[in-house]
Amino acid sequence: MDWADELASRVSGPQVVNDSKTPSGTVHVGSLRGPVILDVITRALRARELETTLLYGVDDLDPMDAQALLTPDAIDREMGRPLAHVPDPAGDGHSSYARHFAGLFIDTFAGLGIQPDRYYWMSDLYDAGEMDPYIRTALDRAALVRDIYRRVANVQHPEAWHPIGVICPNCGKVGTTIVTEWDGERVRFECRPDLVTWAHGCGTTGWISPFGGNAKLPWNLEWAAQWSLFGVTIEPNGKDLSTAGGSRDRSDAIAREVFEREPPLNVPYEFLNIGGKKMSTSKGRGAAAHTIAEVVPPEQLRFLFLRPRPNQAIEFDPEGTDAVPRLFDEFDKFAAATARREVKGELPPGFEATFRYSLLDAGADVDAEAAAFRPAFAHLALLAQIPGVDLEWRVESEKGSALTGREHAILDQRAAAARAWLDAYAPDSARIAVKDELPPEVADLTDDMRAYLAAVAEAAGSLPEAASGEQWQDLLFRTAVRLEMRTNRQSFAAIYVAFLGRDSGPRAGWLLASLDKDFVVRRLTEAAGAAPVGGSS
Ligand SMILES: [Zn+2]
Ligand SMILES: [Zn+2]
Repeated sequence: MDWADELASRVSGPQVVNDSKTPSGTVHVGSLRGPVILDVITRALRARELETTLLYGVDDLDPMDAQALLTPDAIDREMGRPLAHVPDPAGDGHSSYARHFAGLFIDTFAGLGIQPDRYYWMSDLYDAGEMDPYIRTALDRAALVRDIYRRVANVQHPEAWHPIGVICPNCGKVGTTIVTEWDGERVRFECRPDLVTWAHGCGTTGWISPFGGNAKLPWNLEWAAQWSLFGVTIEPNGKDLSTAGGSRDRSDAIAREVFEREPPLNVPYEFLNIGGKKMSTSKGRGAAAHTIAEVVPPEQLRFLFLRPRPNQAIEFDPEGTDAVPRLFDEFDKFAAATARREVKGELPPGFEATFRYSLLDAGADVDAEAAAFRPAFAHLALLAQIPGVDLEWRVESEKGSALTGREHAILDQRAAAARAWLDAYAPDSARIAVKDELPPEVADLTDDMRAYLAAVAEAAGSLPEAASGEQWQDLLFRTAVRLEMRTNRQSFAAIYVAFLGRDSGPRAGWLLASLDKDFVVRRLTEAAGAAPVGGSS
């Protein structure tokens, strides 16, 4: 990808790439774009032999502010407490709500080829006192922090406001407290019943040390403190945080003026939008990361995120569409072009890098991966619906030689994805039931259509035993042209009627390629009836 390589060429010296996330609930697949972009930047830096560390943080002292996943009796007690202190709602052995949901998210990383050198948990860093120097600086410079909020974000805090959130020693909530004084060792806090609408404080007031895990910095300061603590040099973040006067601007200003350090390089990225309204209907498959991952294998998922530049939004609507097969086709096209094979249609600049960075293994042999044989997804989806197909034989015949070990693995993965796609997302047009007997609908075929079927049957003699979808598709087109069929629609309709008893279906060439050739010729001939072969010739 030219953007990551270009970024890597602009920096020098050791690099620290960082991202962090609040583990507030189930993760949408779009949230994986950030970690994939981080990983690609890290790979690009390492390719230039820059010493690079990839960090991933969990902001688990953030307050619980979404009650959707809490049981009714837990809402009043848990809302406003740090996520690290809220019990695991699933009760499956994690030590906290944060550990449960961050764990689910982090578990998807390895499957996507993302391997941070270190994960850090903010609750651990606060407890260990690693944030203490930044807490002290922020409190000493409280007036400057208030001034930055006013200048950069037009947010006016009261004169007594101090940039720290005490975890109430009585009720354990952090979202309900404010600090109004700082004496150099302790802060005066109030846990207010009505500070926020979503949580109720207990009314406790008093003086407490803000160090050693008793308190946390507000997000903008915590973020800037992470940069100083770890020496972060590059941190991409979502567009929503990158607006003027938004979160990133505030943290940048706090880094420079309060912690006196230049903020890291930003790479703002857009989101992945999954489907529109369709997503919420019937099957309710939704966009949870693990659901999409069943149908879209890791390399195609990385490819989905990486094909557009980071600042371009991605619209992906798998429900009832051919978005998934098209994604595979595009991936295969990038692979073929990388292997210097001829491909149809346009390719964006940097396609070779996009393919390389889509690979799961950062150290993979790119040429060998590009050259590997990949059966078309749509073809596998058809074969999956036809009983008794010897998949391996079909695919090896199409390739023209035995599959390598790697190609076997690709075939297995794709065949599973195709079956999952048929189960979860495929449109009705992709579903087929090839009729065992000649469908009665053939009675409606016109003479032109019958002549076409007969001509296709005859021309099929020139095809190999396991012809590919493209070879069949080519033959269908050439025959239609030769017979001067009025429209392709008419010729393809004849094929669908003869095999499916309906006038539409998946790509006709792939349909025929998925069937036994002798059966195809026999059926075409039967459907053509006694109509003469040839037509115009
Ligand atoms: Zn759990
Ligand atoms: Zn309290």
